[in-house]
Amino acid sequence: RGRGLASRAHKTANRNIEWIVLRKSNAWDSKDNESENLPIYQHKARLIRAVKGSTFLVVTGETGSGKTTQLPQYLHQAGFWKDGKIGITQPRRVAAITVAQRVAQEMQCALGREVGYQVRFDDCTSQDTVVKYMTDGCLLREILADPGLSQYSVVILDEVHERSLNTDILLGLLKKTFSNPDKSTKSRSGPLRVVVMSATLETDKLSAFLGSCPVFTIPGRTFPVTCKFGFAVGPKDTESSSYVKEVVKVALDVHTSEKAGDILVFLTGQSEIERACDMLYEKAESIDYRYDVEDQTVEGLLILPLYGSMPTDQQRQIFQAPPPGIRKCVVATNIAATSLTINGIKYIVDSGFVKQLNHNSRVGMDILEVVPISKSEAQQRAGRAGRTSAGKCFRIYTKEFWEKCMPEYTVPEIQRTSLTAVILTLKCLGVHDVIRFPYLDRPEERFILEALKQLYQCDAIDRRGRVTPLGELMVEFPLHPGLTRALLKAAALGCEDLLLPVAAMLSVENIFIRPGHPERQKEADKRHRQLAAMAGSNNDFGTLLSVFQRCKTSENPSSWCKDNWVHWRALKSAFSVETQLREILLRLQQKRDFPTETFNGDKSELFRRCLCSGYFTNVARRSVGKVFCTMDGHGSMVHIHPSSSLFEQEAELDWVIFHDVMVTSRVYIRTVCPIRYEWVKDLLPKLHEVDVYELSSVARQEVTEEEVAKWETREAAKRPTGFTEVIK
Ligand code: ADP
Ligand code: MG
Repeated sequence: RGRGLASRAHKTANRNIEWIVLRKSNAWDSKDNESENLPIYQHKARLIRAVKGSTFLVVTGETGSGKTTQLPQYLHQAGFWKDGKIGITQPRRVAAITVAQRVAQEMQCALGREVGYQVRFDDCTSQDTVVKYMTDGCLLREILADPGLSQYSVVILDEVHERSLNTDILLGLLKKTFSNPDKSTKSRSGPLRVVVMSATLETDKLSAFLGSCPVFTIPGRTFPVTCKFGFAVGPKDTESSSYVKEVVKVALDVHTSEKAGDILVFLTGQSEIERACDMLYEKAESIDYRYDVEDQTVEGLLILPLYGSMPTDQQRQIFQAPPPGIRKCVVATNIAATSLTINGIKYIVDSGFVKQLNHNSRVGMDILEVVPISKSEAQQRAGRAGRTSAGKCFRIYTKEFWEKCMPEYTVPEIQRTSLTAVILTLKCLGVHDVIRFPYLDRPEERFILEALKQLYQCDAIDRRGRVTPLGELMVEFPLHPGLTRALLKAAALGCEDLLLPVAAMLSVENIFIRPGHPERQKEADKRHRQLAAMAGSNNDFGTLLSVFQRCKTSENPSSWCKDNWVHWRALKSAFSVETQLREILLRLQQKRDFPTETFNGDKSELFRRCLCSGYFTNVARRSVGKVFCTMDGHGSMVHIHPSSSLFEQEAELDWVIFHDVMVTSRVYIRTVCPIRYEWVKDLLPKLHEVDVYELSSVARQEVTEEEVAKWETREAAKRPTGFTEVIK
C-alpha cells in the first residue's frame, strides 16, 4: 500500500504531470477549534488593546504561535475594518497566498471577498476585501500611489526578522511618515496603527527604531530538539552540490530507522528540490516495509515538494495530515523555516545551505547563489521539529563546518543586494536624501551610489538626482529597470508587441523543463534546440518571444507545451503577466505625455536595438576563444551558458548582451543576444561617464545647476581619451 501511495504522490514533483489529489484529507476540511489551541489565543484581548494603544507595536512570538493567521482576525473581530482595511505584508509571495487561503477558510468566506491577497501579477482582492495579505513589494507600490495609506486602519509588517529589502524600506517609510501623528494624518480619517511582527530577538532594536514603542511578547512553548551533525559537508565543501544526494540519504535513513512522525527537509531551490524528490521516490520504491522499517506502524512515504513558484493547489497538500500509516516528507526551501508552519513535523534534515540573492562584486551584479546558512538560521530550522513534541534535527554538515563556515546571523538583504528599484521608489516618493533615510541597518554607501549610477545610466534620474519623466514611467513597472527601459523604448517606437512577451517570459519561473533523467534530458535538449531554430532569430530573447507566440496561437497550448518540454504552468503565468504589463503600459500611454520615437534603421534590427537600450549595461565582447569580457568596468571574464542557443557558436560572435549571470566555478551569462557594436557605441560611454563618488552629493540632496555645470566641464575634459577609443 505504501509503495503505491509514494508513487502517486511523487508525481507532484514532476510538474509536467498534473497534480493528482490523493484523497480529501479531513485536516483541511474539518472545522476544528485548532485556532483556540494556539498560544496567541489567550492573549487576544490584551493584544487588541495593545494595538489600539499606540501607533507602533512590536509583536514577537515563536513561529507557529499564530501571529500571522490569528492577529488579523482578532483585529477584524475588534472592528478595525470599519475604519479601513487590515493589511498584512509578507516577504514571500507563497506565504501571502497560502496564509490568505487559510484565513479565508477559518473566517468561512470565499478567498478574494473579505479576505484576499495581492502579490506581483496576481491580485485576488475585491471591493469587499478588508483583511488583505500581500507581499511587502505590493504595499510599497501602494504607498507610491497613496503615501498616507488612507485605505488602511492597520498595517502589519510580518516576518520582519527576515529582513527583506522591501520590508526594511517599509519600516523606514512608515517610521518617517507616521512617527509624527499631526503631520501624517492629513489624508486620513483616523490614525494608522502599525504592527511589526518578528519571530526572533531583535525586538529591542525594532522598538528603539520605532521610538521606543511597546513590545508584546507571546509566550511560546517549545520542546527540546536534539541536533546531530553529519560528515558529508565540511569546510572545504562550501561550493559542492553533493548536498542534494546527502539529504536524500539522510531522509531515507530517518524514514527507515526513526519512529513515526513527519520529515521536513531544507534544501535550496526548485531544481534541487525536484531532483531530491525524484531520487527519494526512486529509492523509496525499493523499501520493503516488512523488513526495512524500524517502526512497523509506518507503511509508506508521501513525498511533497515546497518552493516559491509552486501552484497553490499543490501547496495546500503540504498542510494536510497524511493518511494513517503514511509518513509525510516535505522537501522545502527556506520558506518552511518561518513563513509557513507545517504541523506534525518531528524530524528535520538540514542541508546547511540556502539560495540567496547577493551582490557579486566580481561581476558587479546581483546573483542567486547557494551559500551556507547562518547559525541563527540553522537553529530556526531545527526548532521546527519541536513545536508539539520533542524532535530531532539531522544536519548533514560537520561541527567544523558550523564553526568555520556559518556566520552568526544572516546579513539583511538591504546590505547585500542591488538597491536600484528601491532607490527609484524612494526618489519618486520625494525622499531625495537617500543616504540619511532612516534605515534599520544602513546599506553600504557604495551600494546606494551604485544604484544611483544605474538609474542615471538608464535615464531614470538626471545629474541632479531628480527623477526624470522616464523614471516616473519606469517606477510603475514591477520589473528590473533595464528590462523596463527596453520595454519603454519599444513602446516609444510602437513595437511593444515584441518586448511585452519577452518581459513576461523573463518574469516567470524558467519555462524550459530540465528533466533529471539523462535520456529524457537529451530529448528535452533536442526539442529546445528545435524551438530555437524555429524562432529563426538566433538569439535567446527571440526564442522566448517565439515560444510565447507559438504556444499562444497553437490549437491546444497545454499539449503543445508537453510536446516541446515547456512548462505549461509557467507559460500560462507568462500570458497573464503579459496582459498585466500591457495594461500598465496602456494606462501610462493614456495618462501622460508618453514619449514617441521613430526608427530609421533596418526593421529586422528593431527588436535587438530595443533590447540594447535597456541591456547595454550587460554587454560583453568576445576576447579569445569562447571567453567574453564584460564592458561595464568590471571587465569580468564570462562564458555563454550551455542552455543558450548560442552555446558552441561562440566563435562566430563578437558583441553580445545578456539578461543575467550564473556563477559556478565559472561565470556564465544566460539569455544571450548577439548585437553590433554600433548599436551600443553611443550608450557605452554612459557606463564610464559618471564617477560614482560624484554621485554621493546627489545621494544626499538635490544638486544645484552650478555644480552640474562644473561637473560637465570636468567630464568633457576627460572625454577625448574616453571609452570608445579604447575599445576599438
Ligand atoms: P506564526 O505566524 O506565529 O508563525 P501562523 O499563524 O503562521 O503562526 O500559524 C499558526 C498555525 O496555523 C500553525 O499551527 C500552522 O500549522 C497553521 N496553519 C497556517 N497556515 C495553514 C494552512 N494553510 N493550512 C493549515 N494550517 C495552517
Ligand atoms: Mg508568521
